[in-house]
Amino acid sequence: MRVLIISDIHANLTALEAVLSSAPEHDAAWCLGDLVGYGPDPNECIQRISRLPDHLCLIGNHDQAALGLIPLSRFNQDAGAVVAWTQSVLTEESRAYLSTLPGKISIEKFTLAHGSPNQPIWEYILDPVTADRNFEALETDYALVGHSHLPLIFHQPFEDSFAMMRPILWEEPMRLSPRMILNPGSVGQPRDGDPRACFAILDTEKETWEMHRVSYDVAEVQIRILRAGLPERQALRLMAGW
Ligand code: ZN
Repeated sequence: MRVLIISDIHANLTALEAVLSSAPEHDAAWCLGDLVGYGPDPNECIQRISRLPDHLCLIGNHDQAALGLIPLSRFNQDAGAVVAWTQSVLTEESRAYLSTLPGKISIEKFTLAHGSPNQPIWEYILDPVTADRNFEALETDYALVGHSHLPLIFHQPFEDSFAMMRPILWEEPMRLSPRMILNPGSVGQPRDGDPRACFAILDTEKETWEMHRVSYDVAEVQIRILRAGLPERQALRLMAGW
């Protein structure tokens, strides 16, 4: 099965549509959470994701905050302001969908979590030490995570060896080798200095992982952010990719 892996959409419908229309052929879609927050299109993104055939979706920290499950004080001022705005515009249908989403799922060889398998909502896996702690408790060969908005791959070359970071191969399949923690980067707010939307294709039979980028009309999203009265910084950062 070929699976489209997306994460951190952050209410950016233009980026999401660009990913969905450019993604190579796939049979299913797995979304690792944070459908809302930062961006101007929370209901539209939830509707689009919820109607994808054969999809799985996790809840992220911004989704939980939009449902009122996390206090705004856990966010910085800008992010908190967008969470408050999102709460005010979220439809009942959107709230109902987000409320059904799990924090962590295991499917065959893959554990899916927004942050990390150990702490699905809040932990960032950014370094080999944190990756090690997660490998220790991981019950599957692979973990798929989002949250950092950075395309990252950690692997454990031998049983009980230390975790290492692997370079990203773009636009070509990389063979998976047990065990790995893979982050597909962010659709709606990349933070690796490249503003293009980021996603991956996982082939569960061939056991390969392909990372992709796609450009989208950032200016159009910036205008919607400003029109909605959201913080200007959230518009500016999209162009810089951070
Ligand atoms: Zn996020």
